[in-house]
Parts: sequence; structure tokens; C-alpha cells
Amino acid sequence: MIILTTIKPKKIFVILGITALFAVMLILMWQIFAPPSTLGLNVAGYEFVFNEEENSQFVLAELAEEIRWVNFDVPYEALKKAMQLEISARNDGHENVNWIEMLSYLACKYWGNWSNYRENDLIALAERLKTGEEMRQISEDMEQFGYFMRRYGAILSGFLGECEDGEYGLLVYFPIATGYRFSHSDDFGHSRSYGYNRRHLGHDLMASVGTPVVAIESGIVEVMGWNQYGGWRIGIRSHDGLRYWYYAHLRKDTPFHTDIAEGESVRAGQVIGYVGRTGYSRTENVNNIRVPHLHLGLQLVFDEAEKDGYYQVWIDLYAITRLLLQNRAAAIN
Ligand SMILES: [Zn+2]
Repeated sequence: MIILTTIKPKKIFVILGITALFAVMLILMWQIFAPPSTLGLNVAGYEFVFNEEENSQFVLAELAEEIRWVNFDVPYEALKKAMQLEISARNDGHENVNWIEMLSYLACKYWGNWSNYRENDLIALAERLKTGEEMRQISEDMEQFGYFMRRYGAILSGFLGECEDGEYGLLVYFPIATGYRFSHSDDFGHSRSYGYNRRHLGHDLMASVGTPVVAIESGIVEVMGWNQYGGWRIGIRSHDGLRYWYYAHLRKDTPFHTDIAEGESVRAGQVIGYVGRTGYSRTENVNNIRVPHLHLGLQLVFDEAEKDGYYQVWIDLYAITRLLLQNRAAAIN
């Protein structure tokens, strides 16, 4: 009351005018300096945001969500079809058809239940994107879209890209060199008895001793040596830091390829070691695995503190290894 009575009406208009001018300036400043508008998939670690400059591509940004378990149950058929759709769309000049986004969209549509998967859903979705619709708009009302993007994106983001020959396609390789026999089944989560009661957090590829093992994805050799469970094993971290590929039970005496060294980088498709049956022993270089096989693991590292911690995120690789079968490397190096 005191203020109102002491300030004359004319002055109020001046104050209002200045305030309005200030507000307009703020809006203009925001327009000029604000980052490209992003679709808020905001929780805590890595995050996928819609990058307007790239037009319709979700990009991995800083994350904040604590992810302690990832149930990756996208069927092989869906992975394969989605991948093919992205590759063919790219070759036709459609940059906005992205398999990770499409799979995340379908996971939302199915409420996470992939037994509802129908190939026509994927085809129809790719068609919508090709006619210019944007995933940002299509997925707008899907509250779980970011949830699946973060998980599927962490697993699959290094899989597709421009190959050395300039073609767009699969950059990752099947871990057994071409021409070598193997067999496998869906064995993720089966119980294991050595040491303590553990679940099998990987995928076994049965193959003969000496079968060349190739790097699935390019990265840095983070770990190389003996472990009482894995025996001679190699751990390779993808260049984006998100994926830790683990290859275990390698051959006694000569487990590793001579070109491989801890801290050095490896290319996808490069021979890194040989199948064996070492492990389940505190003593180094001991064969204690009955049936020779490659134990393959994929750990997602959302939080470096949990890399060797309690909440390790390991992925079921059965569908992924089937997908990788399309790309087998020759053991020439
Ligand atoms: Zn295993």
C-alpha cells in the first residue's frame, strides 16, 4: 500500500515498460545462446537427447539414471529386421531411420513384452520415418521411450556405421573366426557352482581348443591375464566406454595373440586369442573346464564405480551373437 501510494501512475508505466523490455531481451538472449532444443529423457549417467541440428537423431549425452540391471530380450528376428531397415534406409538417403529408436519405440508399444513382436510393426514404422515423420514426435507420448533408448542404445550404439569400404553396415564381428565350427544355446542366467552359487552372466560358444577368437568390437584392452573363474581372459572396452567385452577360458600356454597387449587398442575382427579350457583354479595356466568353449560376456558400464562392484550389468548375448553371425572375420592376422 505504501509503495502504491508513493509511486505515481506515470512511474508505474515506466517500471512496467522497463520490465517488459528486460523480459524481451531475456527471451532473445535465450533464443540465441540456448543449446538446440532437446527431448527430455532426463534421469541420472548417460542420456539420449534429440539433437535438432542433426535432425531426428537421438544422441548420447550425459546420463544421470542409476542403471543396475538391464533385461535385454529383444528377439533376434526383431534385431535383424530393424538393422536391415536402417541399413537399407541409409543407402536410400534416409538418415532418420534408426534401429535403436525403432526398437525402443516397439518396446514401449509392447509394454516391454517382446512376445508381441510382429515384423509388420517394424516395417510400418520405418515407412512412417521415411515419409518424413520424426521419431521425436512419434514417441512423444511414450513415457518409457527414454528408458529403452538408454538401455538399447548402450548395447547397440557401436554396431552400425560406415565400414572401411565406405558401405554402411555392421561394424561388429562374430567372435569365432570364419571357417571354424561352434555351437551355442541360450544359456544366460543358468546356475554355476564353482566358488559360490553364481548365475551364468554370459554366453558360451562351444568350439575346439585353438579356435581363433576375434574381437567383436574395436576398443582398448583393459584386462589381460589370469582370473580364477575365467582362466586366461581378455577384457576389451569399447571406445565410448559403455561396453566391456569379456572373453574367457582361453587356451593353456598360448592364450593370446602376440599383437595384443593391455592398454593397447584392437580393431573389430582382429584375432585376440584362442579357445581353450582354462579357469576354475587359483593356480595360473590350469585346464579345469571340461568342455572347451569361449565364455563371452558383455558388461554395460554406466557407472565406473560399479565396473567391478556389486551392481554389474551383464547382458544376455544369445540374440546378439546370432546377429553377429552375419559378419565373420578371417583369421588372417
Ligand atoms: Zn560361460
